[in-house]
Amino acid sequence: METTTPQEAGRPIRAAVARAFATPLSMETILLPAPPAGTLRVRLTALAICGSDLTFLSGAWGGALPALYGHEAAGIVEAIGAGVSRVSIGTRVAAGLLRWCGACRACANARITDCQSSLPPDAMATIRDQAGKPVWQAMAIGAFAEAILVHESQVMPLPDSVSDEAGALMACGGITGFGSVRNLAQVQAGESVLVVGAGGVGLNCIQAAALIQKEANTEANKQAGTGARARTETGKVIALDRDGERATAAQACGADTFILMDEDENAVAGRVRQALGGEGADHLFLAVGVASLVPFALSLLRRGGTLTLVGMAASSNRAEFDMTELADSGKRILGSKMGKPMPEQDFPTLYKLIGAGKLQIAPLIAARRPFAEINDAIAAARTGGGRQVLTFD
Ligand SMILES: [Zn+2]
Ligand SMILES: [Zn+2]
Repeated sequence: METTTPQEAGRPIRAAVARAFATPLSMETILLPAPPAGTLRVRLTALAICGSDLTFLSGAWGGALPALYGHEAAGIVEAIGAGVSRVSIGTRVAAGLLRWCGACRACANARITDCQSSLPPDAMATIRDQAGKPVWQAMAIGAFAEAILVHESQVMPLPDSVSDEAGALMACGGITGFGSVRNLAQVQAGESVLVVGAGGVGLNCIQAAALIQKEANTEANKQAGTGARARTETGKVIALDRDGERATAAQACGADTFILMDEDENAVAGRVRQALGGEGADHLFLAVGVASLVPFALSLLRRGGTLTLVGMAASSNRAEFDMTELADSGKRILGSKMGKPMPEQDFPTLYKLIGAGKLQIAPLIAARRPFAEINDAIAAARTGGGRQVLTFD
């Protein structure tokens, strides 16, 4: 196995560093060390901006400064540390924040987001600015840069049928949306699904839910034989968003109905019930980190329905709900840490769906810009909508 050469130590790369919260990133040269054992360096070809990057950048989650955010990336492996076996130099990969040891109790029980093992590169890593001061590699990836240094579990080889930007988009938002619907809430064919927030993660919840219905219909059609019309119970997928312009993307991702969220919650609830034939929903995915929406979301569920919290709010947010009502109605609230992901199974499944054209990438993307325009991309991402994708020369 090839390893990095000594002269690669402290490779200078361009990076967009957060020097202060809620201010534009500073484009500067930083030094990325040669990969220690178990890690590898990826030269990025695509990068997307996730809502969590914006929350970090706003200061709502705290963390050390200066910092490198960014955690939805793809590129080419250009150097590997000792013992790396998953990929070799030249492998095209997607990279994200999910990392796991594969040996602890959490990993053995498919709870990889609970893996607490200490893995290289360490938290206050070895990335330095030009003055030699450490730069915090946020989420153990720090992808707002031309290259990243990550643990080998953080990368997934990409098949030819999956583009770099598709790989980047699946690394966090994609797997979170799909995992929340399939692994965590385990939506069944025929169940109705509301998705609040038709942004990066919400659109992937919509796609995952719509696909479950579509697969069930195809299966039923097959069993009904040629020419016969299948009689299947079709669960509706309904998207809600404050921005009416999200309707096109939501429908492209398979939403049956788009409902505009305005200030009048009673009117919105009325429109939802009407779309569901007078019923509450079986599932609601809250894909925005707005705690004040939790009671409203619960009110839209049928008795025994499930609310899945997918969006991450600022640390101090508290949601209120009637405990007795929740218990009496048998409703459930699930917290989604990236959709209870099983990367070794989920990513290949996502890639297969993309390759087969069953999973749409185009509706997820709002705009593409060169990496040098990352501050413009962040400003645009703050106004909502789809993902901002950055490209590299
Ligand atoms: Zn993310
Ligand atoms: Zn582990």
